[in-house]
Amino acid sequence: MARDSGPQCKQCRREGQKLFLKGERCLTDKCAIDRRNYPPGDHGRGRSRQSEYRVQLREKQKTRRYYGVLEKQFRNYYSKASRQPGVTGENLLRLLEARFDNVLVRLGFAGSRRQARQLILHGHWTVNGRRVDIPSYQVRANDVIAFKSGSGAEPVVRDATELTSAVPAWLQADHDGLTAKVLRHPDRDEIATPVQEQLIVELYSK
Ligand code: SF4
Repeated sequence: MARDSGPQCKQCRREGQKLFLKGERCLTDKCAIDRRNYPPGDHGRGRSRQSEYRVQLREKQKTRRYYGVLEKQFRNYYSKASRQPGVTGENLLRLLEARFDNVLVRLGFAGSRRQARQLILHGHWTVNGRRVDIPSYQVRANDVIAFKSGSGAEPVVRDATELTSAVPAWLQADHDGLTAKVLRHPDRDEIATPVQEQLIVELYSK
């Protein structure tokens, strides 16, 4: 499975904000954004011109990195979103939000999307009683998600639940039983992604 395996803190520094790519570390004072909040590279501290295109491009890259999606996959999500009825930018976020790896993070069963992907790829989760080992799997309303009992990864998942203060209203989680249910798809104001999706639509509409 292709994935972005570059240094994660550099990605946050490039975008100039916390993208929470490393789980617990992101909540500590070791976070690179707290220590060196300027872009990586020799010219990171220099002034950069903020053209309209550049702002739109950065917003797209930020969103892609936040969800851990490669360029081609992101384009595919955009194409699908633009064919759906409604607002394209919101459709795009809804599709990204419904990825199985993202849902595990929102439910508090993984500290980061990278960790969620690993747990999924190793076959630790079922959806409606069937093993699902595809991180990009799109969850649907009424899907029941469960951790496979007896798996050696249980301490990792339980540790992640300790870091979670709240689960969004479109999901329902049982942290003791390590099960969950998708109640519905999220409304835009329930998607806590720090992004202005309209800028992405403008970028791709050029
Ligand atoms: Fe980003 Fe987390 Fe690294 Fe901070 S610790 S820069 S939020 S990945």
